[in-house]
Amino acid sequence: MADVVVVGAGAAGIIAAWRAASLGASVRLIEKTNRLGTKILISGGGKCNITHDGPLEDVLKAFRPNEARFIRPSCYRFRNHEIVEMLTSRGLRVYTRPDGRIFPVDQTAKDVVAILQSYLDDVRVRLELESSVLAITATNGKIRGIETSAGPIPTDRLVVAVGGASYPSSGTTGDGWPWLEGLGHTIVKPRAALSPIYLDAENLQPEFSGVALRSVTLRARKNGKEIDRWTGDLLFTHKGVSGPNALGISRIVAEHFGGGPVTLDVDLFPNEPPEDLAARLLAFSQANPTRRVVTFFEEVVPERLQAFVLAQAAIESTTVFGKLERKSRNRLADTLRRLELGRVRHVPLEKGEVTAGGVSLDEVDPQTMTSRKVQGLFLCGEVMDIAGPVGGYNLQAAFATGFVAGETAAKA
Ligand SMILES: Cc1cc2nc3c(=O)[nH]c(=O)nc-3n(C[C@H](O)[C@H](O)[C@H](O)COP(=O)(O)OP(=O)(O)OC[C@H]3O[C@@H](n4cnc5c(N)ncnc54)[C@H](O)[C@@H]3O)c2cc1C
Repeated sequence: MADVVVVGAGAAGIIAAWRAASLGASVRLIEKTNRLGTKILISGGGKCNITHDGPLEDVLKAFRPNEARFIRPSCYRFRNHEIVEMLTSRGLRVYTRPDGRIFPVDQTAKDVVAILQSYLDDVRVRLELESSVLAITATNGKIRGIETSAGPIPTDRLVVAVGGASYPSSGTTGDGWPWLEGLGHTIVKPRAALSPIYLDAENLQPEFSGVALRSVTLRARKNGKEIDRWTGDLLFTHKGVSGPNALGISRIVAEHFGGGPVTLDVDLFPNEPPEDLAARLLAFSQANPTRRVVTFFEEVVPERLQAFVLAQAAIESTTVFGKLERKSRNRLADTLRRLELGRVRHVPLEKGEVTAGGVSLDEVDPQTMTSRKVQGLFLCGEVMDIAGPVGGYNLQAAFATGFVAGETAAKA
């Protein structure tokens, strides 16, 4: 019987298995796909944003306060620079972007996974690929083993690192939650985070797909009241919107979805106070009476979207400034500050880069990653109710909680 069994060979499970084995435990690492670190391989568009640079307190601020409190002890046990050192000491060259995101210089997640594999090999972790865990067995509140597609594995120390439910093709299909619920854990409803947002078709037109708006603010409203906003780039897709802005607000949109319409709108000139924009529009209009109205915003709004903006301001596309009434000009100024994209239809969990929700953080000891419900059970990574923003935060949370779970399991 192995001392420790780890289920899921993603970021959290790999580090958990390595740490437990480094402390002398014999470790079996069970993975359903045919590869180690399947999701790491697709992370950052295949480039892998390994972690986020800077003081840990700044890194933690990127998370919701309760999540930050929960992962703080782990992040101090296994800091952002420690995962970087593990990788660079075995030849990976990394660079830090001005926004703090750390990537391999050669832009390949494969190198990250290959080095992690070498760490597992060094400490003789027994990696079992293409083996699906089907159930956890426990009696009298104590772990007894797991059922896998290859047969039962007895153990009294189990680390569950099966991730969330996004990108199911990478092996994460929400398998862990029914097992853990069956063992008495509370599962906070899983929802999409860092996901594209699908919109009702009425405002969306096929020709918008592929259009990008730079440095705009995307706002979400529920019953007209703003619930979230994000400033950056926005990309139109054939189903709605994607890109940093959409990903940034998707978690809150998903939380508010249902029970009243959620709508999206865009401020095309977020860096200009409304009165300045109105004054600039007036001055432009007076200086250019023969120019078409669209010329005022053509540098900000790509051609495929210009007619949509004018239609929302109820202005004919051929209208020139000399013929534009004051009322219409004011309406245009308002539209440029609030271009309505319409109602949210869906925030797809499977398309999110992360799953928000999962095992309630109240039921796991943040100092040790030990389940407060079942003896011999340790949890780490995205299977728990943690979801950070884009920027290397999610891998950091997985690595750090994995480190602590592996260490506790080995010492238990
Ligand atoms: C497209 C994409 C890009 C991303 N880019 C970044 C990035 O650049 N930086 C960043 O910080 N975060 C990124 N993330 C998020 C990050 O990858 C995850 O938060 C992180 O990998 C979670 O780690 P984990 O170990 O908890 O889960 P996972 O990495 O998801 O690993 C869970 C593992 O468990 C296995 N498993 C599941 N069920 C079973 C079962 N029944 N039996 C056996 N094995 C099972 C799965 O196959 C999987 O390998 C990205 C996510 C996606 C989808």
